[in-house]
Amino acid sequence: MGSIYLEIDWNVPRYACTYCYNCPSIMGKSFCSINNRGCCWYFPKFTLLDIQRMTKTLEGIQVLNMIKNYPGTVVYDYYLHAKGFFDRDGYDKWLKYNNNNNSKMLVRDCTIFFRACPFVKNGVGCTLPPRFRTVVCNFFICDDILNREDIKDAIKPYIDERSRYAAWVEWENRSLEHLLRENNVTLNSNFDSAINILQDTPLDIYEFPQLEPIIISDDWNSRNKGA
Ligand code: SF4
Ligand code: SF4
Repeated sequence: MGSIYLEIDWNVPRYACTYCYNCPSIMGKSFCSINNRGCCWYFPKFTLLDIQRMTKTLEGIQVLNMIKNYPGTVVYDYYLHAKGFFDRDGYDKWLKYNNNNNSKMLVRDCTIFFRACPFVKNGVGCTLPPRFRTVVCNFFICDDILNREDIKDAIKPYIDERSRYAAWVEWENRSLEHLLRENNVTLNSNFDSAINILQDTPLDIYEFPQLEPIIISDDWNSRNKGA
């Protein structure tokens, strides 16, 4: 039995899925040192809204500094990109001997099997609290779940509300970018000034609607193991 449900962490919404704790999807297959990392092969991009949220608390500022000081992080004008682990040699070797591997038919970009986000830890999962994660991290649900026939109707409001929220996030990011442009500052050109501006700007809150949890009765984990 599994479930998909909405969780709110300090006004920041996310979708949680109990199957993810023991990911049965091919998208979660790992050939790198972090075995059970689900689809946390993603290298997160922290937008201005994500950063603005971090500036509002001491804990958030500590997280922001940790992300910025991570050696793989690249500071762009309007976002931070935390580039994590990629086993290039392992991938090249695997590619050489697995030309007809089934995984290649199912996944377009097989580098995901050899990658890991900098913030995922073996046996722990994501080390960032949901309130400081990106919208992609908080709302990604793989096709293996989305395409299940038995939850087609129940998942629709989740997808619709996710789209509405993503549009709002985009709008907020554009507004914050505009604000920095007006002040002739970017994260890359003057990080501290940009952070001060974001900190002094009131944080907008999105009222995410309540959604009924989706209960899935079957044992999808074991049914799909090794897919
Ligand atoms: S969303 Fe899908 S691929 Fe990602 S951890 Fe959950 S079950 Fe695995
Ligand atoms: S930030 Fe967290 S949720 Fe997002 S990819 Fe990294 S470990 Fe996963």
